[in-house]
Parts: sequence; C-alpha cells; structure tokens
Amino acid sequence: MGVKEQRVIGVPRPPFPSPLSPLQADSLPGFPAAVGLTEEQKEFQKVAFDFAAREMAPHMAEWDEKEIFPVQTIRKAAQLGFGGIYVKPDVGGSGLTRLDTSIIFEALSTGCVSTTAYLSIHNMCAWMIDTFGNEEQRHKFCPSLCSMEKFASYCLTEPGSGSDAASLLTSAKKNGNVYVLNGSKAFISGGGDADLYVVMCRTSGPGPKGISCLVLEKGTPGLSFGKKEKKVGWNSQPTRAVVFEDCAVPEANRLGEEGQGFNIAMQGLNGGRINIASCSLGAAHASVLLAREHLNIRKQFGEPLATNQYLQFQLAQMATRLVAARLMVRNAARALQEQRKDAVALCSMAKLFATDECFAICNQALQMHGGYGYLKDYAVQQFVRDIRVHQILEGTNEIMKMIIARSLLQE
Ligand SMILES: Cc1cc2nc3c(=O)[nH]c(=O)nc-3n(C[C@H](O)[C@H](O)[C@H](O)COP(=O)(O)OP(=O)(O)OC[C@H]3O[C@@H](n4cnc5c(N)ncnc54)[C@H](O)[C@@H]3O)c2cc1C
Repeated sequence: MGVKEQRVIGVPRPPFPSPLSPLQADSLPGFPAAVGLTEEQKEFQKVAFDFAAREMAPHMAEWDEKEIFPVQTIRKAAQLGFGGIYVKPDVGGSGLTRLDTSIIFEALSTGCVSTTAYLSIHNMCAWMIDTFGNEEQRHKFCPSLCSMEKFASYCLTEPGSGSDAASLLTSAKKNGNVYVLNGSKAFISGGGDADLYVVMCRTSGPGPKGISCLVLEKGTPGLSFGKKEKKVGWNSQPTRAVVFEDCAVPEANRLGEEGQGFNIAMQGLNGGRINIASCSLGAAHASVLLAREHLNIRKQFGEPLATNQYLQFQLAQMATRLVAARLMVRNAARALQEQRKDAVALCSMAKLFATDECFAICNQALQMHGGYGYLKDYAVQQFVRDIRVHQILEGTNEIMKMIIARSLLQE
C-alpha cells in the first residue's frame, strides 16, 4: 500500500526551501542587509545572494541528506572571486576587505550554511599563506586555492587538545631540509578531500612558542585520514581526522619562522571568527523570512498565526537581534581591517554574540513552525542544525569569553 502525501489545510508545504528564492538584501522590509554599504558592496552582495538562491538553496537539503560535498558549485563560487576573497590580487585573490568578506558569506549562507562555512575555512587558509608565506610560497599555493582548483584545510585541533590548542602534540622534527611530521588532528573540515593542509605542529618545547606552521600537500607518503564523521549538521562538507606518520614536509613549506605557528593560527582565526559569525547571520536572516512566511500562512484559532501579538513580538525580537548581531560583526570586521588594538576582542565578541543570537533566532523560527519545523521538508531545521556548531568551533563561545575577559583585565 502506497503512503499518501498528507495535505493539511492552512499548512504550507514549501517546495524546499522555496521562500528563500530569490532572497535579497532587502527581503526584510525595514531591516535591509545592504544598509550603509557602498555601491560596490551592494553589487557583490547581490551577486552572492543571487548565487545562493540559484546555485545553492535548491540543493541544500539534498547535499545535507546525501552528505554531498558540492565541489563543482564551490568552484563556480570561486569563479565569482569567492575562493580568495581577502587574498591579494597578484596571486589570484579578490583583494577585498574583511567587511566585504562578511557581507559575501552572510549572503551565501542563506543558500547553504554548511557549504559556505567550508568556503570560509578555505578562504582563511588561503589568507594565511598569502599573508605569512614568502613570495615563492604565495605564488606556488595561492593561485590554485583562489581558483579552487585546490581545496585547503586548517589543522589545529587534536584529539587531546581542543580549547587548549597551544598544548598540541603533533611533532615536526627537522631532518636536513625536511620536517618529519608525526601525530594526528581531529575534526578537520575538508579532511580527506582537501589538497593542502595548513598544519600547526610542534618544532620545539611546550607552549605556543614551540609551534610552527607547515603546508602539507595531499599525496605525501604517511598522510592518511580517519572515517568521515557523522554530524548533526554541516553535512555538505566532510570532517575527518588527519593522521601523519613520518610525513616528510619540505622546509620550504614552512610559513613564517619556526615558533610563529601559533600566532599565525590565531591571526587566521580572528578573521575566521568573523566569517563563521557571518554564516550565522545568513542562517538567521533566512530563518526570520521562513518564520514570517509560516506565520502568514498557518492558521490556528481561526486566524493566521501572524495576527497573534505574542508571535508578532517574538518575530520583532528576532529581527532586532539579527540587526544587532550584524552590526557587531561588521564593526569587528572593520576593526580587523584597520588592524586596531581592540580587534581581537571585538572579533571574539562578534563571534560570541552573533553565533549565540543567531542560533536562538533560528531555533525560535523552528518553534514558530510548530511540529512542521521538526520535519525535514522545512528548511528551518537545517539552519538550526547547521549553525549549532558555530558556537563550538573556531574557539568555543566559552573561549571567546576568556579572550574578551583577558583583554578587559589587561587594560
Ligand atoms: C564540525 C566540526 C568541524 C571542525 N573543523 C575544524 C577544523 O577544520 N580545524 C580544526 O583545527 N578544528 C576544527 N574543529 C574543532 C573545534 O575547533 C573544536 O571542537 C573546538 O575548539 C573545541 O574543542 P574540543 O572539541 O576539544 O572541546 P574541549 O576543549 O574539550 O571543550 C569541551 C567544553 O569545555 C569548555 N571548556 C574548555 N576549557 C574551558 C575553560 N578553560 N573554561 C571554560 N570552559 C571551557 C568548552 O568551551 C566546551 O564547552 C571542528 C569541530 C567540529 C565539531
């Protein structure tokens, strides 16, 4: 006996995730994501929203369900300049600012958070090589990263060192003009599929000053990968452990000086935190729209839910929190661009605030969908699942509080 598709009067059955197409900066009247931006920024914001609506949103459910890493779509994004957004143009980058980058990631995330988040990590790696690499390294690695012919992974976390990243144990022992790398990394985004691994490893004594940064190429003997992790969200990108067994890495692949690796890793993460917060903004933006759509269509007690003042107030609060989070993120992006002294704390505040607030917004949007929000036919649940991890990675939100408190107490 076949299973009948049940249709309930007054319940939207959106062709997943239809309300997002085409989502634009001005999709929320009164809360335009383009406010205060230059004409140029508005243009590439529109390009990113269009790309999200056309190339990503129609597939995000399938990528999630089947755990597809959409390599071709990501390469298409790179054709728009999104593979090395804040990498310098002489090596193929777009040479845009941190604020520009945030605007792009926010817009792309409305189409698929998980895919955009991988793109953001790849961009962070490309920037690290562009910024801390010598001319030879920049010209060797950056062009193929910017075109996304090659994909990059950021390798800091280990099974025994997460929040306490400076205690990492992966060792790199100098032998002639190579480093012999041994150890393992946990939770590596893109792991197994990426071509370049930016690896933080220990070249001397304990603590942050004993850490260096090496670029390891896929195919290096001794490099292997764990199983693909099964995750709550972020399913359109693979996460694997990365294992090094006597991997010989040329000294020429070391970024910066010996002992500079932890600093390089942390500088990468300052931008990474803005990027991941921006991905949360996109999810929240989309979820507010989905909630609005649902409240307008769904009727209970003889009226559309949208007529209920409690729900109206909730929606108002969601939009307010989204706008506040966006201001925080853009403020931090400007501070980082200007290399201001308070940039590290502001990036941490933006990551803390935006990822917490945006998760709450998406979760509230799910609540407004009632039981339908819990069904995979409705996009809102995927936004909730995909951004939950933003409170955990690139430094947990508890670690963000530690950084902010440290900067306050140092003043
Ligand atoms: C899907 C996914 C993708 C990831 N991608 C990458 C990647 O590409 N590259 C990479 O290097 N890493 C990656 N990570 C790892 C991620 O950065 C770590 O999971 C994160 O830093 C937390 O480390 P941990 O999991 O070991 O938790 P722990 O450090 O064990 O922390 C457990 C809990 O204790 C809290 N805690 C720890 N210390 C303190 C303290 N002093 N004060 C208060 N609270 C504390 C934490 O905030 C957390 O809530 C990824 C993780 C996930 C889940």
